[in-house]
Amino acid sequence: MDVLATSAVETSGDPQKIVSDTKEPEVEECAICFDAITQLAKLPCSCKVAYCMMCWDQALAQSYNACWQSRCPTCRIPVRVDYDAETGCLVFSREVPRDEQADEEDAGLEEEPIRRNRMRRMMTSHSTALEDRRRISAQTRPAQLRLLREFGAANPLPQPEASIESGIQAPAMTFQAAAAIAACAAAVRPQCVCRSQLERVSGLERTKRLCQRHLPYPPDHPEFERILSSFMERPNESLPVQCDLCGESLAFGTPGIWTCERGNSTILHASAYDVCESCLVRYAYNVEPGASSVQTELSQQPSDDVLVVPL
Ligand SMILES: [Zn+2]
Ligand SMILES: [Zn+2]
Ligand SMILES: [Zn+2]
Ligand SMILES: [Zn+2]
Repeated sequence: MDVLATSAVETSGDPQKIVSDTKEPEVEECAICFDAITQLAKLPCSCKVAYCMMCWDQALAQSYNACWQSRCPTCRIPVRVDYDAETGCLVFSREVPRDEQADEEDAGLEEEPIRRNRMRRMMTSHSTALEDRRRISAQTRPAQLRLLREFGAANPLPQPEASIESGIQAPAMTFQAAAAIAACAAAVRPQCVCRSQLERVSGLERTKRLCQRHLPYPPDHPEFERILSSFMERPNESLPVQCDLCGESLAFGTPGIWTCERGNSTILHASAYDVCESCLVRYAYNVEPGASSVQTELSQQPSDDVLVVPL
């Protein structure tokens, strides 16, 4: 996740599914993309506008990134987003509008107290947005861990065949080797809980994307290049990007970060979604980064002789 921004969405057990209206006798046209709607977004407000799930989701994410609250693009009513782990669906409900609360609070006050109230509300809305993001992240976590386990099962680590016959202890898999294998398996990418895919990018590439999002210059602007290279001169410093599974801050010089290709365009992770290499290997292959070598299932038999798979 980008630490600089925030987000929200509704989903459940199966990350492939997103809440939609199942009764669709007629094909409707989405008010945003004008395509025939295959998944109609079920709105929590009284708007009679038809949105496809993708556009509705994207509109909530844009709103969240612009004003720290997801709102209906038509009536602007605040929308609460939850991920229903049981069904794998996004669930939308009404949130109490903060503007109405503000009007009541400021009624009859002088200019100075109103200014102080505004300042306090601004801080509050930022922390509420962070809470929203944390809540959704906690709701999606089990589904994301399951997707990583499935990725590991579909792209297994090589089995040490020789040791089976000889009865000698099987080779252990190092964290680095497992990470390298996961990177090679990237043709079959791990799935993100938002139904998109996680792609492995370098710290430089991730920093570039972050700059594109937050800097007021295009990538070919000299100032953009200057700022980017100043970051890269400090490879061990932390990017304002954290792993969404362990919360670890990632460094500019990190060789591999698994980031969702959808970036911040879904309310499910409106501040992007990142998984560090350690978490990917841990959850996909049950290999811990701390250990110099970790034994695979075959190597559970007692033995002193551990062959470390080279990088
Ligand atoms: Zn649409
Ligand atoms: Zn509405
Ligand atoms: Zn995603
Ligand atoms: Zn992590």
